[in-house]
Order: sequence, then C-alpha cells, then structure tokens
Amino acid sequence: MTMSEADDLVLLSVDEVFDLSLRVLEGAGLGRPHAEAVARTLAASQRDECHSHGLHRLPGCVMTVTAEKFARDAEPEVADAAPALVRVDAGYGYSLLAFERGLPLLVEKARRGGVAAMAISNCFHFSALWPEVEALTDQGLAALVMTPSHAWVAPAGGRKGLLGTNPIAFGWPRPGGHPYVFDFATSAVARSDLALHKAAGKPIPEGWGVDGDGNPTTDAATALEGAMLTFGGHKGSALSTMIELMAGALIGERTSLDSMAFDEGLKLAPCHGELVLAFDPVVMSGGDPAEGIVRAEALFAGFAAQGARLPSERRYAARARSLAEGVSISRALHERIVALLP
Ligand code: NDP
Repeated sequence: MTMSEADDLVLLSVDEVFDLSLRVLEGAGLGRPHAEAVARTLAASQRDECHSHGLHRLPGCVMTVTAEKFARDAEPEVADAAPALVRVDAGYGYSLLAFERGLPLLVEKARRGGVAAMAISNCFHFSALWPEVEALTDQGLAALVMTPSHAWVAPAGGRKGLLGTNPIAFGWPRPGGHPYVFDFATSAVARSDLALHKAAGKPIPEGWGVDGDGNPTTDAATALEGAMLTFGGHKGSALSTMIELMAGALIGERTSLDSMAFDEGLKLAPCHGELVLAFDPVVMSGGDPAEGIVRAEALFAGFAAQGARLPSERRYAARARSLAEGVSISRALHERIVALLP
C-alpha cells in the first residue's frame, strides 16, 4: 500500500465500529435494543470483511429508520405458535431484534423436537444471513435461513422484475472449529454491483441482466432499468421462487413484489418476512450424532485434500485479522458516517 492510499483509509477496532454505528443509529432515533442489534451485525460484517453489509450499509439503515413506515421502538412479539413453530411479529422494526428475541424458544423447540421453525413477520430487512446461521450453529444446531427482498429479478425466460435477490444461508456445526456456512443471494450478483459498473461505465458480463424486452445485455444501466437475473439459469430461478413461497406465502407474508409495492418508491430496506429453520443433530440422528459428525468431517477433509476451500473460510480468516489488527474503511465512507452523528 502506498502512503497516499494509507492516508485515504481510517483504521478502526471492531468495538469502535460497533460504537460508531450505535451512536449514529440512536442519534437517528432508533430505540436502544434495535440500535444495539443492528450495530452488532454491522460490526460483525465489517469484521468479516463483508463490506457490502458493514458500515457501508449504515447510511441506508438511517434512511429507513427515519421513514414514517418504520417503527423505531417496535417491540417484537414472540408467540409459541405450535410445538415446532415460533412466530415473531417484528412490528415494522428491523428483523434483527425480532430474531434475537425469538432465538431462545426456537433453540428449545429444536432440541425437543429435532426440527423447529421461526417465522418472522413485518420486518424491515437489510442484513446478511450468516450471523443468524452462526447464532444457531453456536448452539450445536444445523440451520437454514431465507428471506425475500424487492422484485428486481426476472424469472428464467422472463423480462421483468418478479423475484427478489432472495438470499439463502445454511450452517452446520463442527466440533472444535468454525461451522460450515454458506450465505448467498440467488441473483447472479448484488444489485450494488450493477450500480458500481454503471458508475464506472464498465460493461457487465452476460447473465447478470436483461433489457426491458428480455434480451441479454452487457450494459449495466440497461439491466438496472430492465431486470436482473438469478444465478444458474432455471435452477436459480426455481430456488428463488421457493424462497418467495417458503419465507413469503407459507408464513402469510409479503413476496418481493408485495414488498416493492409497500415501499412506494421510497427506496427503504425491503419489508417482508423471514424463515429460520433449526435442526438438532442429536435428535435427528436418533440420539447418537457421532457417526454423522465423522461423515461430515470426512466430507470437509475431501475439500482440503483437493485444494478446494469451504465457503466462509475467507470470512473466518478476515475475522481473525480484524480482531488482531482492526478494520480499514475509506476516509470518504468514514466522513459520510461521522456526518450522520447528531
Ligand atoms: P458471494 O457470492 O460473495 O458469496 C457467497 C458465499 O459463497 C459465501 O458464503 C462465500 O464464502 C462463498 N464463496 C465465495 N467464493 C467461494 C469459493 N471460491 N469457494 C467456496 N465458497 C465461496 O455472496 P452474494 O454476493 O451472493 O451475497 C452476499 C451477502 O449479501 C450474503 O451475506 C447475503 O445474505 C446478503 N444479501 C442480503 C439480502 C437481503 O435482502 N437481506 C439480499 C441479497 C444478499 P466467503 O464469505 O468465505 O467468501
């Protein structure tokens, strides 16, 4: 790194990222428990070098918080809805506190029944899903989490936004180490990648988007006006549709199309539901998970044996580095955030 590049960066500890986020969010009027939950997730994302969901998101979070539709002091309502189901009404606040409040009952139910679900409703959602997956793997449970977003993505063979960028994440607890976790959008890329290409005047690869007539395009502006595409053609399209159904229709919640209509062009975080599934390896294996653990570890060893990496390995390496050395953000982003302080 040259000296002038270093001058353009600000070094913060992970705790400082949390404190800065908390002050900004509370200053914007977000109730303390919500502000803490959001700040924890932003700091974790920055720590793991998931830049798109770290401090970069803070200005957008503030914009959502100050909107009339958003409930800054929403108290999530946790309902013991059925033997294997926790329902949490987020009350038009952020999803993160609703998740935290419902988590203990979800864990208890999964341990009792082997499998349990948490359906979160009426939540504004902006975050990566892996922190929630890790909250469950930390308890020795496997987890599957999914949520819709806004309808920017055309179905395979289509030409208009119908599906969301719909992320899905999975976690598998591992003895004595980091869990196996993947977490990705079902769109070919993040919408912000298209915006970055547009700003830089750079062409996009085929497969990222289509124009308004459904023709493939390599022009970012055309794709932003037309529609994004899912990864993996018809397979990603079907997976994304499943997320609309499972984390939307199944739990009585908005699809990405409904979420976009609810937004009324305000460009707030999407507002919809989230589905969290938890599985207890002890109960699911009939009481003795040891053999399953050995099989899973053999599978993971097979990756290393052929030089392939597991998803989240990059994140875990970034985590160790950030905890030891702090995180660097651009001076421009830091100034933008400091300007948001009351
Ligand atoms: P990426 O394509 O960057 O990465 C997705 C996953 O694949 C990560 O688990 C990553 O692990 C892993 N991975 C990447 N490269 C490799 C590789 N070579 N070998 C093995 N594993 C690999 O993710 P997306 O851009 O699709 O999504 C980024 C984030 O955005 C996600 O956290 C998602 O939840 C979030 N999101 C949230 C939305 C919302 O509305 N709330 C909407 C859309 C996305 P690693 O991190 O270690 O590289």
